[in-house]
Amino acid sequence: MSLVPAEVELNEDERTLIEAVRDFSRKELLARDGAWDRGESSVGDVLGQLAEMGLLGLLVPQKYGGLGCDYRTYAAILHEIATCSAAAAVTVSVHGLVCGIVDRFVAEPVRTELLSHWAQVDHFGAFALSEAGAGSDAASVKTTATPVDGGYHLNGEKMWVTNGLSAGWFFVLARVRGASEGREFCAFMVDGRSPGLSRTEIKGKMGIRGSETAVIDFADVFVPQTHLVGKPGEGMRVCLASLGYGRIGIAAQATGIGEACLTEMISYARQREQFGRPIGTFGAVAGMIADSVVDLEAAKALVWQAASGADGGGLDRSATSMAKLYASEAANRIAYRAVQVHGGSGYVNECRVERLYRDARITTIYEGTSEIQRMVIARELGEA
Ligand SMILES: Cc1cc2nc3c(=O)[nH]c(=O)nc-3n(C[C@H](O)[C@H](O)[C@H](O)COP(=O)(O)OP(=O)(O)OC[C@H]3O[C@@H](n4cnc5c(N)ncnc54)[C@H](O)[C@@H]3O)c2cc1C
Repeated sequence: MSLVPAEVELNEDERTLIEAVRDFSRKELLARDGAWDRGESSVGDVLGQLAEMGLLGLLVPQKYGGLGCDYRTYAAILHEIATCSAAAAVTVSVHGLVCGIVDRFVAEPVRTELLSHWAQVDHFGAFALSEAGAGSDAASVKTTATPVDGGYHLNGEKMWVTNGLSAGWFFVLARVRGASEGREFCAFMVDGRSPGLSRTEIKGKMGIRGSETAVIDFADVFVPQTHLVGKPGEGMRVCLASLGYGRIGIAAQATGIGEACLTEMISYARQREQFGRPIGTFGAVAGMIADSVVDLEAAKALVWQAASGADGGGLDRSATSMAKLYASEAANRIAYRAVQVHGGSGYVNECRVERLYRDARITTIYEGTSEIQRMVIARELGEA
């Protein structure tokens, strides 16, 4: 089932694209995702294919060689990818998040230069905000930017960087040495080939194992003034505004995981018999399926609403936080029920719901935990 509401008529191009991504995901990503989960390489291996499919250029305006999707189509596509591979979905989502940043905040001519190549593998993007001591509290980042002739020197260590092993470009938030209060944060686009930049893989993740996660170390990495994102002192504003768009992607990843769990749950409930009947005929099992359908439909509606808001021009931070909060928590509830419906079979790694259960877990954590989304929603109401 698609993320697109039944009453919405997509145009021919949008429909064809979403169907093509569904086919591609089923043929190329579903089986690989299982192999990635077992530790056999990662999404990094299929970046060329993602680029060929146009998935690295979803948000790149058409005049720069991208597909120029709106956020509704983008979310529908991420949902399709996530039904087959949550790892590939977050990969594409983070790359899209950084694309949006370049498009909105990077000054010319660097903006055009980057966007013109953004759909290609060598411009694969990563978002480096978190550090060992700075997660929910982004303002406690310690990575420094020291003004030098023609630009800045970056020093510090970023944690948990999705796409970090293969990225050609990093969006980085740093604290500027000597800046006045209120203007201490600057954001940069950093070339992944810069001398002094090194990457270390983070291993042992619970889920989304096919997704690259890395520690990125910056040792006197030079960034030219032209690669500043937004104006000096605006780094935190850029970060927070951009995460609003990013959350649409993670919310769509969550609905995709929920959809996959529901499909598995229904199929198993029809086929597994106990007491001489399919288990789906027992009220308790049917109830778990019904609750999951309601959770999923409500989540999809919130994601569609948030994406529609973004397409309308004014990003509604409350709407994107509601979508991310609800969709991620719903995906976890659905994944829990999917394992429950499978009984003991759902507890072993041969069964797909076991993986989906682990994959769902991250969605309430990255790009703002559920607790942080609740804070954003309450703040928008003037309550916190
Ligand atoms: C697989 C993975 C991929 C990631 N990818 C990226 C990436 O690409 N780029 C990036 O920059 N980061 C990334 N992250 C980091 C992620 O965004 C952070 O883990 C997340 O923001 C939470 O920060 P933290 O882990 O430091 O937890 P903390 O901030 O230490 O939070 C711990 C707990 O305390 C709660 N808490 C904290 N503050 C409050 C508060 N004020 N009120 C109520 N509760 C609170 C949290 O909700 C949470 O439950 C990734 C993380 C993982 C695990």
